Amino acid sequence: MEKVKMVGVIGAGQMGSGIAQLAAMAGIDVSLQDTDQSALDRAGNAISDSLRRLVSKGQIPQSGALEALNHLRFTLKLEDLQNADVVIEAIVESEEAKCKLFSELDKITKLSCILASNTSSISITHLASQTRRPSQVIGMHFMNPPPIMKLVEVIRGSETSDEVFATVKVLAERFGKVVVCSKDFPGFIVNRILMPMINEAFHALYTGVATREDIDTGMKLGTNQPMGPLQLADFIGLDVCLSIMNVLHDGLGDPKYKPCPLLVQHVDAGSLGKKKGRGVYVYDNHDYLDLMVRKRLQTGK
Ligand code: NAD
Repeated sequence: MEKVKMVGVIGAGQMGSGIAQLAAMAGIDVSLQDTDQSALDRAGNAISDSLRRLVSKGQIPQSGALEALNHLRFTLKLEDLQNADVVIEAIVESEEAKCKLFSELDKITKLSCILASNTSSISITHLASQTRRPSQVIGMHFMNPPPIMKLVEVIRGSETSDEVFATVKVLAERFGKVVVCSKDFPGFIVNRILMPMINEAFHALYTGVATREDIDTGMKLGTNQPMGPLQLADFIGLDVCLSIMNVLHDGLGDPKYKPCPLLVQHVDAGSLGKKKGRGVYVYDNHDYLDLMVRKRLQTGK
């Protein structure tokens, strides 16, 4: 198994910026690509703020932060990923957009490159079929925010080779993560179980069972979760939650997965959660990672 020396990350949003930071902190050269310059600028700021916080808490030395920054490149050009050993895609949760990208990546990257998707729910086997290298396509599903959350779900498509699985597992472990392996069914493990719970919380709010605060407090204290499902949905992004529910509904065919009309209405209104400053709740402009860190300090988790 060749050691991974260069990683490409595509999509500089909440997930892509965190994944690029992890790769850089693991001492791997990483190019973060996005089609939107403002997303790259925001990602650069978020990564340097996050590294600064890790230094101020004594979790990494100043030299470690500088080294990590030295491993990072930002680019608008997909061609800059042509020498990557592994590309991790973290663009919008749209099957059409991801299929198009995988077909382009197949042409641009070297033949030995592994193509991984951070998709929350889309079929890895289907993404792999857009390429001439289905055995080298795999799901690498990080949790949000990637620098903090311990888990990576690795999803094997129907053709993913054992060697590719082993390389990606070792890579996730170099990022300091614990790996679980899922077969390629809609929602994999975590979202198959989490999203119906979030959707049910929207139904409870929609049908007037309780206020948003009481639903969240009930689930937080009643089931010992660090935050309630409505707040978690805001943090994930309501558009992402809706896309995943649609994939579960279409892929598993059971009406129990139909997205709640209130969730659909929020997305129609552009009220997408924390990243837009408004979702089920209204947010000020606190830094997202900062909020998570404070929450963890409060709950001791
Ligand atoms: P986001 O909206 O924060 O970021 C998406 C980024 O992709 C944007 O910067 C956008 O400009 C860029 N983009 C869109 N199309 C592109 C293209 N063709 N080429 C290059 N860049 C492009 O989204 P996110 O929350 O970071 O989610 C990204 C992926 O990660 C999705 O597949 C999502 O399902 C998955 N995911 C999200 C979470 C979460 O909690 N938000 C958790 C795990 C996995």
